[in-house]
Amino acid sequence: MTAQEWLRKASVALENAKITDADSDAWLMLSYVTGMSRMEYTLKRDRCLSAEEVCSLSKMLEKRKQHIPVQQITGEAWFMGYPFWVNENVLIPRMDTEVLVEAVLTRLASVPLPKNKKRRILDMCTGSGCILLSLLKETNGLLGTGADISEEALCVARQNADRLECKARFIRSDLWENIDDTYEIIVSNPPYIVRNVILTLDAEVRDHEPLLALDGGEDGLDFYRKIVADARRFLVPGGLLAFEIGYDQGQALTELLNNAGYNDIEILKDLAGLDRVALGWKADEQQEE
Ligand code: GLN
Repeated sequence: MTAQEWLRKASVALENAKITDADSDAWLMLSYVTGMSRMEYTLKRDRCLSAEEVCSLSKMLEKRKQHIPVQQITGEAWFMGYPFWVNENVLIPRMDTEVLVEAVLTRLASVPLPKNKKRRILDMCTGSGCILLSLLKETNGLLGTGADISEEALCVARQNADRLECKARFIRSDLWENIDDTYEIIVSNPPYIVRNVILTLDAEVRDHEPLLALDGGEDGLDFYRKIVADARRFLVPGGLLAFEIGYDQGQALTELLNNAGYNDIEILKDLAGLDRVALGWKADEQQEE
């Protein structure tokens, strides 16, 4: 069987199984197994697949038909142009989350610079580590800490730090439980899905991604309340607090940050034009007096 024949067959099979991104998922599996780039495929679409390749591809196709996310099948996902290991213990990095990373990058110059010129950043609920590690890759001189309640998630995050050759510290912590340092920046993409909405999500998310990373409680805001309440103790004066939020949580986050005394609150939109990021700044010392 040629590469092109397999791709066609797989796309049809996935479409029949009601997989939304049938074509692109079939391509991801083919390129993962053969190592072919788009360009190579264009030039050599008639290349015959080996028996081993066909065998691995069939196994992957069967899994995808069961609605297992393609990134969990290949074990990796791309975020901010970097490859990350993923498994069922971490949320798969979403493109929307890149808005959060970009927002922090473009505001770095306004974040206080400590005497040693190394800004400290905490990623609360780090999961795969994709937010923290891509920020470390994109910036020199950041000291990164990732915190998560899940030891299994931290194991993935540590492997990603090794893979991307990043120096980062990882702490197992139920929110602030084991956090003791102060930070110039705190970022977080906490669980924020309203509990009874989880059942309505795609099977890929609902059945295969960790509930622990999705469930934001009755109104989806449990983690924001807890993080906002204590973040001030862990942020330096003038420090930045940056969240990913759900499309309908902009107003709630503005109120939460406002009531907690944060300044210059901003709600930013994702590529679909939906609210996706909330930012606030801790007052600096002069203002606080
Ligand atoms: N954005 C994710 C989703 O749509 C949820 C992420 C989260 O709860 N932090 O499934």
